[in-house]
Amino acid sequence: MSVKIKFLGGAKTVTGSSHLVTAGRTEILLDAGLFQGHRDAFYEINTTFHYNPRTINAMVLSHAHIDHCGNIPNLIKRGLRCKIYTTSATKDLADLMLVDSGKIQEEDVKYVNKINRRLNLPLRKALYTAKEASRATKIFRSISYNQKFCIAKDVYATILDAGHILGSGIVVLDIKDAERSLRLGYAVDLGRKNLPLLNDPVIPKGLDYLIMESTYGGRLHRPIEEAQSRLREATSRALKRGGKVIIPSFTLERTQEVIYFLNELLKEKLIPSVPIYVDSPLATNITDLFNFHLDFLDEKTRQDINRGNNPFELLNLRFIREQRESKALNTDRRPMIIIAGSGMCESGRVLHHLQNNIEDSRNMVLVVGYMAKDTLGRKIVEKNPFVRIFGVEYELNAEVVVINSFSGHADQAELLDFVSQCLSAKRQDLSAGQEDRLLKRIFLVHGEVEQSLSLSAKLAEKGVQSYIPDKDEELLLN
Ligand SMILES: [Zn+2]
Ligand SMILES: [Zn+2]
Repeated sequence: MSVKIKFLGGAKTVTGSSHLVTAGRTEILLDAGLFQGHRDAFYEINTTFHYNPRTINAMVLSHAHIDHCGNIPNLIKRGLRCKIYTTSATKDLADLMLVDSGKIQEEDVKYVNKINRRLNLPLRKALYTAKEASRATKIFRSISYNQKFCIAKDVYATILDAGHILGSGIVVLDIKDAERSLRLGYAVDLGRKNLPLLNDPVIPKGLDYLIMESTYGGRLHRPIEEAQSRLREATSRALKRGGKVIIPSFTLERTQEVIYFLNELLKEKLIPSVPIYVDSPLATNITDLFNFHLDFLDEKTRQDINRGNNPFELLNLRFIREQRESKALNTDRRPMIIIAGSGMCESGRVLHHLQNNIEDSRNMVLVVGYMAKDTLGRKIVEKNPFVRIFGVEYELNAEVVVINSFSGHADQAELLDFVSQCLSAKRQDLSAGQEDRLLKRIFLVHGEVEQSLSLSAKLAEKGVQSYIPDKDEELLLN
């Protein structure tokens, strides 16, 4: 049986992860992420398929980030009918994330079409609506970590904890017929050791091939432990001078991590006891899922919860769904912490909080995530003297603090360590002569080229062969 991989997306870039594995006549899809970029590229790339969604036999989804699951509703519209295997936490999270993605697209199309109508240009359509997205998870099937399932003829899948976000998985495919057996690992995205709330990534055993992310293939993160001390210093300073702390945050994982650290600091009385608001209906619903899927959290968090110290049920903490309550914060002059979406300050309720607080030098904007070029978030990070919000210029007088130690992705050292551990994780069921098959090749994806190249060079120093595929390149595994 021949086995091939086609790198459909997330090759030489970080967004739109999707890969097609063909074993004989069986077609398996790993992820179907949305390519995120400017409007024209977004529409063009996400609607162009170099394969037929109708003939896919099974799909495995690694995690609920939109760059991994965001194109599923669109694929279903184009005939995808197979089962999608993933963990139960990913299934529930993907449900929320996809509906939100549908809603954002509908709003964007409404805005663009207003302009296009005026200019007599053709009208656009959303890739999918919130309603279409809400039906997508009906074809999802939950599987537990570490259990091998037959997902199609001659193909078995196991999902191991990737330690990246709640429910995230490293996928291991075992492809086996009378002629050959092959084990392929898919670690996209790969988490880090010691992240709050999550278990450390699990090492897959006896891989022949590995598809691995390389987002930070050329960089080293500050240790995650530093995030808590930086959070303490910064928030204390602003709160003690009577200011508000505005934290623009990604709704999935980063918001919950920040809450976790704030809970620890409050418990130890290391920051002033002020109200903490999570102003985002999506972040609120996602946090509910963290409370529901306790099995996916690490031992420490589960023990804390059993002892009555649930970080998401802190007395000072209030989750805001209603717009009325969100607006009421504008006139509340007490020192407080407000965590609000969106992460890059491009839309959402964080804009109102910035608009109302950015001109007061007692306040602070605390940046805990990546801000892409040209976003309002980046302009704030760069400390532009004036920033434009809802078409009005505001003076940026609030203190801006950036904490770089938060990241859910393994850095260069952690990726190299993961590979080393994979190399020594032999299978029990192989004879001594077969052991030299271990990790014949690593395919580096989910990274800008310079990041992948840097990691590839480091791997070569260790005598490990890697390859950086192009988008839509197809390779035969022999
Ligand atoms: Zn991710
Ligand atoms: Zn990703």
